[in-house]
Amino acid sequence: MQKETIALHAGYDKKQGFGTMSIPIYQSTAYAFRDAEHAANLFALKELGPIYSRLTNPTNDVLEARFAELEGGVAAIAVSSGAAAIFYAIANVAEAGDNIIISDKLYGGTATLATYTLKRFGIEARVFKSSDASDLEGLIDEKTKAIFFESLSNPQIAITDIDAVVGIAKKHGVLTICDNTVATAILCNPIALGVDVVVHSTSKYTNGQGTALGGIIVEREGLNEFFKDSKRYYHFNTPDVSYHGLVYTDVPLPNFTLRIRLSLLRDIGAAQSAFNGWLFIQGLETLALRIEKHSDNALAVAKFLEAHPKVKAVNYPGLESHSDYKKAQKYFKEGKASGLISFEVGTFEEAKHIIDSVKLFSVVVNIGDSKSLIVHPASTTHSQMSEDELKVAGINPTTIRLSIGLEHTSDLIEDLQRALG
Ligand SMILES: *Cc1c(COP(=O)(O)O)cnc(C)c1O
Repeated sequence: MQKETIALHAGYDKKQGFGTMSIPIYQSTAYAFRDAEHAANLFALKELGPIYSRLTNPTNDVLEARFAELEGGVAAIAVSSGAAAIFYAIANVAEAGDNIIISDKLYGGTATLATYTLKRFGIEARVFKSSDASDLEGLIDEKTKAIFFESLSNPQIAITDIDAVVGIAKKHGVLTICDNTVATAILCNPIALGVDVVVHSTSKYTNGQGTALGGIIVEREGLNEFFKDSKRYYHFNTPDVSYHGLVYTDVPLPNFTLRIRLSLLRDIGAAQSAFNGWLFIQGLETLALRIEKHSDNALAVAKFLEAHPKVKAVNYPGLESHSDYKKAQKYFKEGKASGLISFEVGTFEEAKHIIDSVKLFSVVVNIGDSKSLIVHPASTTHSQMSEDELKVAGINPTTIRLSIGLEHTSDLIEDLQRALG
């Protein structure tokens, strides 16, 4: 099935219940067992079914099945935010004494998680150059548990050399985790490129309207075999004393998401509400239409900016002049490059003036909304930093970032034209 069809139908049997066309919101904390044996079977995984909504929920089940199919994976697990999804994906394989290797171009929250929070738990983060992965192999040792990168990074709008990363990871038997939030499951499928685990912040394009926070983790088929005799991933093939000695690789269910559900979600509990799960299901129905439109609109705006005399540089990989243009053509559907653009103007004052002059763009630190968003990092999110500190953080005082929405491009361009003066 094609993605447009999967996004509308996968994972739901409408003959269930009352035949509701809209997927029911199962707003229930817990689920009644038929009898003692049923309860025992569920806990022993002899029978599958809902126990308690921290672990599973029938509304979220539909989202998970749908998302897994859309990403070309075998199973998924929905959690309460993208940040939680990233933490769980890493904590599922790494513990004190281990290391992970992260891309030099990452979402700010992921970079601080890896650099500061995971460090407090004894997990070291090593940084590799994602543009060509030339330094990646030298960073791997027997304690390396994952390589983490973004297909299309936020906020740098850079594309990882996925083939190079996957080649090195496979050679050394190290798990790859790709954050596919910005490219979306429609434009890019990292699993088809050889990646093991895909994570998303569903708060962004999947939701599409800025109405809920969520995250999801998808695993590829065949990870059970990958973990089976692996010394590196011994947690999966030795007894889990916290789950009465369960050996995950003995269970014929997708092991990566199973272990997150049975241990991390059980113990840490960043569970997604059924209502938010339902909102993401609504979002998925139109994701394919929207992301193509976001991409087409962004390309039109990027071309306008590139031709404007006051604009010094435009960062959008859909532009032929962009250094990642070839990667966009190779990895993304029809070379479409999603909705994020950044551009440089002459001075800090000019940048501030633009932010204060736009009328259609909202000044918001979010992405993926149907409405266009604008942000000037140097005067907002990074305003406490000195010019020198900004340089170290890679924030140029003259950079403006846009998340292009679904408005008509002529209105967006007119708004920017007026603001640029
Ligand atoms: C927003 C974002 C996250 C974090 O997701 P939340 O849902 O806000 O927790 C992670 N990665 C990327 C690329 C993002 O854009």
